[in-house]
Amino acid sequence: MNEAAPVIPVVSYARISADTARDGHGVEDQHKVNGATAARLSWTIVHHYTDNDLSAAKAGVVRPDFEALVKALKAGHLPDGQPVRGVVVVADDRLTRRAGDYERFVDALTYEEGRLYADAKGPKNLYSEDVESMGLFGVVISKMEVRKMQRRARRSHRARAELGIPVGGKRPFGWQPDKLALNPEEAAWLAKGAREVIAGKSLHSILREWREAGVRTINDKEWASRSLKLALWNPRLCGWRKHNGELVRDANGVPIVGRWEPVITPKEWMAIDAIFSARVGPNVKSGGSVTDYRTPSYLLTGILRCGKPSADGPICNAPLRATARPDLSGGYLYQCPSKEMGGCGGTGRNGAKIDEFVTEAVLAKLEERAARTKHADDEWVGEEELARLTKKQRKLLQAWQEDQISDELFFPQNQKMEARVKELRADRTRHVLNQQRAAEVTGDVRERWTSGQLDLAQKRALIREALHAVIVLPVGGGGRRPFNPDLLVPNWRE
Ligand SMILES: [Zn+2]
Repeated sequence: MNEAAPVIPVVSYARISADTARDGHGVEDQHKVNGATAARLSWTIVHHYTDNDLSAAKAGVVRPDFEALVKALKAGHLPDGQPVRGVVVVADDRLTRRAGDYERFVDALTYEEGRLYADAKGPKNLYSEDVESMGLFGVVISKMEVRKMQRRARRSHRARAELGIPVGGKRPFGWQPDKLALNPEEAAWLAKGAREVIAGKSLHSILREWREAGVRTINDKEWASRSLKLALWNPRLCGWRKHNGELVRDANGVPIVGRWEPVITPKEWMAIDAIFSARVGPNVKSGGSVTDYRTPSYLLTGILRCGKPSADGPICNAPLRATARPDLSGGYLYQCPSKEMGGCGGTGRNGAKIDEFVTEAVLAKLEERAARTKHADDEWVGEEELARLTKKQRKLLQAWQEDQISDELFFPQNQKMEARVKELRADRTRHVLNQQRAAEVTGDVRERWTSGQLDLAQKRALIREALHAVIVLPVGGGGRRPFNPDLLVPNWRE
């Protein structure tokens, strides 16, 4: 191959189905045909996707490689950052089984201009309406128009980004309204803050300093911890910019430098990025439970419902309210509100006793569930890889910052690692969430409850996890009766 010729990276897709098995076109054969097609067109296959529909011949089954293919096409690159500009496949009917799949595939391929497609007969223009209007796949033509418009909008936005022309509405803090020249005073604050982050100062103390000095946002608001972090983490500070969450880079992976005046150097910004990225952990509250918007001060407020039948049949069903009653044991009462307040006023019960009974019932229920659910107490398997990768990334960053390696070497490598680290972090968050979910209903719930580890909001969340409501049936007859648990009817969640 001529070294000067530009490489057009495409992927090959093969699918084994009952049909392909019958006509003797195995996976290797399909990829071979695709390879020959690509070679004829001077395209280079950079990845092979293969799905096996024989092992899972059910309709509606997910084909992992098809999904990965769609994702890569939409992004325009493989998970490791390698660009992808098109697809080669033996024949259309090998690509998709359902009309919906074809839709998604075309959407992903034509997401940006200039993508390529070919089957064994040669290249085909998936941007043209002819392909779709053939009616093979039941696609409505007007979708074509919609896509074209969306593409145009995206292209102009992206083109501006690639030219380093600022886009968007308001001026960023630190720059003049033209978004190019610096606002000297604000820029000085940004530079100072940025260098303080690198020096290890906490965001909190930087924030306090800004507030004390009366620094305001462009909307004349006081800075908050979140807005400050975003301002200091913005790649614009060093002349770079992000588009769809990723740095805008040239074909070699080197970030494109904008036309505006920078506040700090790329090396400084990369240091800040490393610091803030490292802090991104699983974003889960300790305890993991969802707390009520406004936590009432009694355990079962809103959970207990009045079970007194009304005159015309159905029960009252009003949520009982807690009222302090120093004369009662426990000191409070759950009560149906008066008619004016939406209840019937006919039910009232000792608060402490109901709390105790319902707590016991809920704990027993949660323990029973925990016994049935296998406890997933696995360690997250990616820890070692993440640690290794982050260390490697830091080393690489340092080498680049000390000018030991070039931009050309640093950026593609770093981008690859970044993609993987992002993937690992997302996986870790998922894992932690699953663990917490499982922990909520494990056998130690009673211990956590009785040893005071749970606050009222967490207890209420657990109760809601176990049941929808508890109906409080009327006692009947007059006077005070002994507490009768049979008159409490839990409505369990299953
Ligand atoms: Zn009532």
